[in-house]
Amino acid sequence: MKETLQAIYQIQKLDDRIRDNQGRLDQIPKDIADIQERLKESRSRLDEVNRQQEELARQKKSLEQEVEQTSANIKKHQTQLLAVKTNKEYSTMLHEIEGEKKNISDIEEQILTIMESLEKLALQETEENKVFTEAEGQSRGKQQELDKEAAGVSVKLDELKKAKQDSLKGLPKDILASYDKIGKARNGIAVVAVKSNACGGCFGNLPTQLLNRIRDMDKIITCENCGRILIWQDPKQQ
Ligand SMILES: [Zn+2]
Repeated sequence: MKETLQAIYQIQKLDDRIRDNQGRLDQIPKDIADIQERLKESRSRLDEVNRQQEELARQKKSLEQEVEQTSANIKKHQTQLLAVKTNKEYSTMLHEIEGEKKNISDIEEQILTIMESLEKLALQETEENKVFTEAEGQSRGKQQELDKEAAGVSVKLDELKKAKQDSLKGLPKDILASYDKIGKARNGIAVVAVKSNACGGCFGNLPTQLLNRIRDMDKIITCENCGRILIWQDPKQQ
């Protein structure tokens, strides 16, 4: 019985490592997805800055064309001014030219505001570009690292599963059945060692009489509190 108990304790240790490694293997794709998501966010911030730059450049160009067109109109009206016959016509034309000049000055003001915004956006673009380039470089390295880690964990998992299969050989079926049953009910931990006179699973204190029976290791003793199989381990081996 002692050997059997030691053997299921070893199986438990293998199962613990299988669970940890499986957990890591399941986590790695999520870590990679997070990296890609952050990179995507950085890219879209940069795209948004570029989009605003294009939009403002387009507005600026259209305003500049308006200035050009209005300047041409002023020139035309100034020529016409020389040819008018009446005072009324003269003052109407003059009024129109003044309106056009005012219009140009308003537009030029708008152009200045746009140019200020474009300057700010250029700084933002440089900054976002830097952040994106860095993130891209880092994420490539980090993804390679994670891929490599996943491959390593996979190999380790196969080894552990094989080791478990080997350890299962020759163990009584009824004991394995209770091991599986308790494990299912207790987060995969069916066998625990006694630690400081307490159950290593639920940390409940164990009576001295029970401790003595566990130490004998001649039958399966379970924790009265959590139902896990209790194993006596020499403190030096723990
Ligand atoms: Zn317990």
